[in-house]
Amino acid sequence: MTSPEMDIPSLADIEKHFTLFDYIDGERIPPTVELGSFVYNPSTGEPIAPQKATDPEQLERALQTAYRLHQSGVWANTPPEARAEMLENAANHLMTLVPMIAGVESYHTGIIFSTTQFVNAIVWLAFRAAAGVLRSGYVFSTVPGPCGDVEILRKPLGVAVAIVPWNSPAALAAHKVANALAAGCPVILKPSEWAPYSCLLLVEGLEAAGLPRGLFQIVNGGADVGQQLVSDPCVRAISFTGGLQGGRAVAAACAHDFKSMQLELGGNNAMIVCADADIDKVAEGVVAGLTTLNGQWCRALGRLLVHDTIYQSVLEASLHRLASLRIGDALDPATQLGPLANPVHKARVESAIRELAARGTCIHRTASVPAHGCYLSPTLITDASPQDTLEEIFGPVAAVHTFRTDEEAIQLANQSPYGLGGYVFSRDEEHAFRIARQMNTGGVKINGVSLLELNIDAPRPAWGLSGFGEEGTLETFDVFCGKSVVGVAAR
Ligand code: NAD
Repeated sequence: MTSPEMDIPSLADIEKHFTLFDYIDGERIPPTVELGSFVYNPSTGEPIAPQKATDPEQLERALQTAYRLHQSGVWANTPPEARAEMLENAANHLMTLVPMIAGVESYHTGIIFSTTQFVNAIVWLAFRAAAGVLRSGYVFSTVPGPCGDVEILRKPLGVAVAIVPWNSPAALAAHKVANALAAGCPVILKPSEWAPYSCLLLVEGLEAAGLPRGLFQIVNGGADVGQQLVSDPCVRAISFTGGLQGGRAVAAACAHDFKSMQLELGGNNAMIVCADADIDKVAEGVVAGLTTLNGQWCRALGRLLVHDTIYQSVLEASLHRLASLRIGDALDPATQLGPLANPVHKARVESAIRELAARGTCIHRTASVPAHGCYLSPTLITDASPQDTLEEIFGPVAAVHTFRTDEEAIQLANQSPYGLGGYVFSRDEEHAFRIARQMNTGGVKINGVSLLELNIDAPRPAWGLSGFGEEGTLETFDVFCGKSVVGVAAR
C-alpha cells in the first residue's frame, strides 16, 4: 500500500518495523537492557518505544562470533570476485527495500520522506560500489621489483565495527558495512539508540543475499555499548560517524592498540556570499543549507558570511523564502521541512539559541511551525560576535556575519575549528574558485547547496575537528584493509 505521489509506505506497514532486535550469529534476539529514555516519533513528539541496549553476554557473543569467523578464513579467503557477487546480490535485494527503509526512517527521525528516499538509494548503491572496488582489481596490484613483480595486497584487518548517528542512519551504515564486507571483514553495526529501526532492515537484504552466518551482526545501545565495542581487543577497524565527544572517546580507545579508524564528525560550515552574488540563488542556498535533513546535516549551513553591501538584501530574501516553507509531518508529501530528531535534541538546539540571544544578538524567524511535535522554525542570528558562533549547533540555525574583503571572509570561514563543508556564491566563478581554494575544509561547493556529491568517486575529507581520515569509495574500503608488500629480494 503506497501513496501515489511518492511511494510512501502506509503507516500500518511502517509501524510493523518498530520491533527492536539484536542480530547475533544469524539470530534475532530482543535486547533487554533499559536505557531510561525513548525512541520518538518527532513529528508528533510521542514516544514509540523505550530505548534498549544489548545484554552484556550477547555483546560478548557477537564479538566472539565475529572473531571466530575471521579466524576461520571463511570470508577473508573468499576470492574477491565471489565476494563481489554476494555484495551485488545484496544490492539487488536492498534496492527493493528502499521505500520501506525511507518510510521507517522518516517516521522515527523526522527527516522528510523525499529526502530519506533520495538518501537511502545509497543503501544499495554502496553495496554496488564496494563490489565495483573488488571487481576493479584494487585488492591486488603489482609494481616492478629488483627480481620480478612486487605484489601489493590489501588484506582484511579483522573484526570491524560500524557506529552511526540518528540523522541518516541506514545510508551511513550501509556505506560502512558494504566496505567492511568487501574488504573481507566480519562487521558489527551499532545504530544510534535514538534511531535504530531503519538499520534493522539491512538484515533482510543481507540474509536474502546468503551471506555467511555471523558475518554481519547488529547490537544496540548508546555510548556504553559503543565504547565496549571499540575497546575490545578483537576489533581491528572502526568507522564512526557522530559528534566530537564520541569521536574523541573512540580515538582514545583506538590509541591503546592502534586500531584502524575513520571518524566523521561535525561541521560548522561557512557560506561566503560575494558582493556580485545572485541574491535569489543565495536565498535558495540558505534555505537548502538550513533545511536539508532538517538542518541536522554535517554539511549544513552554520555561518552565513555576507559582503556588507548586500547584507540586508540577502537577509530579507532568505527570511522571505523561509516564511513560505511548509513545516510539518515528515511523512506528509507536502512537507518541506520536518521536526528536529527528538525532544532532547530540540531542547539542546533551543538552549544554544537562547545562549546566543542572551548575548544581545538578534533572532530572526519567519516560518510558522505546528503546535505539537519537535518543530523549530529555521533561525538566522545576526549581531553575534564571530567568536561566539564557532561551535556546531546541528539544527536549522545559522549565524550571519558581514565582511568587506575576500581576506576577511576567508579568515572568518577558517576561524571555526571544524572543516567539513563550505559554500561560495559569486557570479564570477573564477573569483569563487579563488576563495574556495583558500577555505580549510574538506570540500567547497560553488553557487549551490546540494546533498549530491560533486563527484561520487572524489574523496570526502575532513579537516580539524570534523574527523580523522577520509571517506569515499576507495578511502572507506581502505579503513578495513592492511597492506602487505611481497616480492623477491634484491640479490
Ligand atoms: P553521537 O556522537 O552522540 O552518537 C553517534 C553514535 O555514536 C551513536 O550510535 C552513539 O550511540 C555512539 N556513541 C556515542 N558516544 C560514543 C562513545 N563514547 N563510544 C562509542 N560510541 C559512541 O552523535 P549524534 O548526536 O547521534 O549525531 C550527531 C553528530 O553526528 C553531529 O555532530 C553531526 O555533525 C555528526 N555527523 C557527521 C557526519 C559526517 O559525515 N561527518 C554525518 C552525520 C552526522
